[in-house]
Amino acid sequence: MMERDLNDLRESYESGKTKEASWRESQLKGLRRFLMDKQQDIMQALMQDLGKHQIEAFRDEIGTLIKTLNLALKSLKDWMSSKKAALPQLALLTSAEIVPQPLGVVLIISSWNFPIGLSLEPLIGAVAAGNAAVLKPSELSPACSSLLASSLTTYLDNKGIKVMEGGAEESQQLLEQRWDKIFFTGSARVGRIVMSAAVKHLTPVTLELGGKCPAVVDSLSSSWDIEVTVKRIIVAKYGTCAGQACIAIDYVLVEKGYCSKLVQLIKLYINKMFGDNPQKSKTISRIVNKHHFSRLKNLLADEKVKESVIYGGSMDQDNLFIEPTILVDPPLEAAVMSEEIFGPLLPIITLEKIEDSIKFINCRPKPLALYVFTKNQTLQRRMISETSSGSVTFNDAILQYAADTLPFGGVGESGFGMYHGKFSFDTFSHHKAVVRRSFLTDFWYRYPPWTLNKLQLLQVSYNYDYLGLLLVLLGLKRPSKHVISGHM
Ligand code: NAD
Repeated sequence: MMERDLNDLRESYESGKTKEASWRESQLKGLRRFLMDKQQDIMQALMQDLGKHQIEAFRDEIGTLIKTLNLALKSLKDWMSSKKAALPQLALLTSAEIVPQPLGVVLIISSWNFPIGLSLEPLIGAVAAGNAAVLKPSELSPACSSLLASSLTTYLDNKGIKVMEGGAEESQQLLEQRWDKIFFTGSARVGRIVMSAAVKHLTPVTLELGGKCPAVVDSLSSSWDIEVTVKRIIVAKYGTCAGQACIAIDYVLVEKGYCSKLVQLIKLYINKMFGDNPQKSKTISRIVNKHHFSRLKNLLADEKVKESVIYGGSMDQDNLFIEPTILVDPPLEAAVMSEEIFGPLLPIITLEKIEDSIKFINCRPKPLALYVFTKNQTLQRRMISETSSGSVTFNDAILQYAADTLPFGGVGESGFGMYHGKFSFDTFSHHKAVVRRSFLTDFWYRYPPWTLNKLQLLQVSYNYDYLGLLLVLLGLKRPSKHVISGHM
């Protein structure tokens, strides 16, 4: 079955159909129609898989995708067009251009936490760039996976785009095939498996991984600034798939003297946003499954970690719900501070000085996203230049995900490669260098037999424009000192 599907895709690609602008446009329009027509079904599937609120579903998945599709449709002609490249003046009567070309048949493996967004966002790039594609959604969000397999496919050309469902086993079977690109979103553990499989055919890969994303909170003096900071932190932790997001705030770094004020406000705003009984409000997603529920429960099992819980901590296993939870200064060697949390537990780590956060961040794997709440320009500059992360956002969180103009991707342990907007198109394209040379001009000193004079002329031509070269050749200008003289 898989063989036949893959043959279909390769045939489609080789027929040249997927390269046509009209095919790309019709598939992008199909994707947009699916999102518009099936909005309710998508929301329902996200509710079923993750208890995700409709507004979150629109904000983080449906809405961002429609926005990306509108941009891709508007920009497709421009993205596809070749771009003139400047050449050195010496290349007389030569022109050059950069021609974007599709890579071929590509594989997209996605994750369960934004099961529609993380599947379709890369697919938009793959299709816009003219590739044939297989999408393998996560088995851990089965309602969304099944919706993509059964409904999305009715909007698309199934000879050029296929959705193949399944878990680790099916994913590995897919990885055994030859691909022209593998785009993977998920854990570093599986990322390693993907990379090893890609080695066989030297397939290029993009790895969108996770890790611990810190939020540094400087002591802010205006009460408005503090309240806005707290609201943004709460939404970036508990209000984004209950913290099950690669760019959710994992933990907060704050000066000791400022911690209690921050905690007091976070508690207040949790209550304002989610009410006395957050579970009842149905605005917080639930944990994806029992396995992840137990994993999160175990993060709190350590005695010292338990003692650090100063708010929340209640868990309803039957309904896979975990209350927004705050921990202050859990041991740094505990799993809650060494592993990605991916859930609604928020450790707050206190420091003597806010500048110490730079060292704290640099001692750990490079984060996918770094958030810094500060008005201090020096601290902002230092954060940009002295730390390494996929992105850094000042005074907000998550926002960078929705920006089509910014590359989204990690560095170091948080992955490599980037996408969103035009970056998605580039990720799935090869940028071919095309040079067109005329026969009309030719320089004798390019060819052997080699003489010192030819070396000097070559050096002159690398260092001067036409006029300079002409003047040197006519003996009206002396070559500069760095041109070698002597014997050969
Ligand atoms: P995962 O690595 O377990 O699964 C991701 C995909 O890989 C799924 O489609 C799954 O079916 C497949 N898979 C699982 N085991 C496999 C195996 N042995 N061989 C081949 N394929 C296999 O990750 P997850 O639990 O879906 O996601 C959680 C992780 O993903 C977190 O670390 C999170 O930070 C990261 N993530 C990153 C981004 C990003 O954009 N950078 C987005 C979402 C999640």
